[in-house]
Amino acid sequence: MRLGRIGGVVSAIALAVTMTGCGSSVKTIDAEASASAAAGNAGALVGVTMPTKSSERWIHDGDNVKAQLEKLGYKVDLQYAENDIPTQANQIENQITKGAKLLVVASIDGTALTSQLQQAADNKIPVIAYDRLIRNSPNVDYYATFDNYKVGVQQATSLLKGLGVEDGEKGPFNVELFGGSPDDNNATFFWNGAMSVLQPKIDDGTLVVKSGQTDFKTAAILRWDPATAQKRMEDILTKTYTGGTKVDGVLSPYDGLSIGILSALKSSGYGRGDQAYPVVTGQDAELASVKSIIADEQYSTIFKDTRELAAQTVKMADAVLKGGKPEVNNTKDYDNGNKVVPSYLLEPVIVDKGNYKDVIVGSDYYTEDQLK
Ligand code: BGC
Repeated sequence: MRLGRIGGVVSAIALAVTMTGCGSSVKTIDAEASASAAAGNAGALVGVTMPTKSSERWIHDGDNVKAQLEKLGYKVDLQYAENDIPTQANQIENQITKGAKLLVVASIDGTALTSQLQQAADNKIPVIAYDRLIRNSPNVDYYATFDNYKVGVQQATSLLKGLGVEDGEKGPFNVELFGGSPDDNNATFFWNGAMSVLQPKIDDGTLVVKSGQTDFKTAAILRWDPATAQKRMEDILTKTYTGGTKVDGVLSPYDGLSIGILSALKSSGYGRGDQAYPVVTGQDAELASVKSIIADEQYSTIFKDTRELAAQTVKMADAVLKGGKPEVNNTKDYDNGNKVVPSYLLEPVIVDKGNYKDVIVGSDYYTEDQLK
């Protein structure tokens, strides 16, 4: 397995040395191996691939990873693929050809990079999956992300808070459910986390999914496309919400989708007169959505500090490039269909109108001015 390529060689040597009874030499050989990896990779090229610039979060991610790697003296090739799978595959192949010593990949389709990752393995290039797990490949060494199941739990919890269920309101409330892109491993984590909170409330009648569309496949929005979400919301409103029936809440897993959903709602008369918008959730604390929360349109988002994710990934990359083992805090939840990938999970935070100043402005993610 590639995870321990350097470590594996070291352990093999260590084992041989131990077996000859020279325990004290082990450290020397370990240290020498690390030192030579460290020296060999100083200033090395790191390939970073991000899915798209169409969502602001990935721009922040790319910029942060690049800047922090450069600060440590590495060279960085940063590429965006505008959500086109073959483009991303080509970018990774090019980075291998250019001599990258490590790859950081935020995949578009988590199942589509098996041959590129094999090529990386053949060239002894370690791979860190960034935010999204790469599936069906043994050649993923580490994974840095947020606790994705918890993101879903938080989205659902915030939906219930917005509806007043947390304060004892009994409903029934009409809600509609949206899922993320089915080829993104995170999307099922978000959905399962959210449904762990919502299903009991659907079962006891507090929530009613009037469209009847309660399975992930139907609710999922391919490539996280806002226009597709808008169209699906429009269709649901036209078919289901007739004769004065209103939708009270929408589970949306990403700010871009929330914007599409809100726009469908607006065309249908919500957000005007005494017809308030339903409670609409989100994710990523994108600038337009935080503004929308302040304007009482979107209800909430999930803040995942891309600066922290970049810092954690860069720490991992630096450790691997120096021949060491990065810190992980989860070795059970992220099975990619081939192996459980050692992961570092960061903590997401629910943001709504009540705490955006503390969380978003307080951490300098955006300034008050940017939010005007
Ligand atoms: C990320 C989310 C993001 C979504 C759409 C997911 O993989 O974890 O933060 O909202 O992709 O870009």
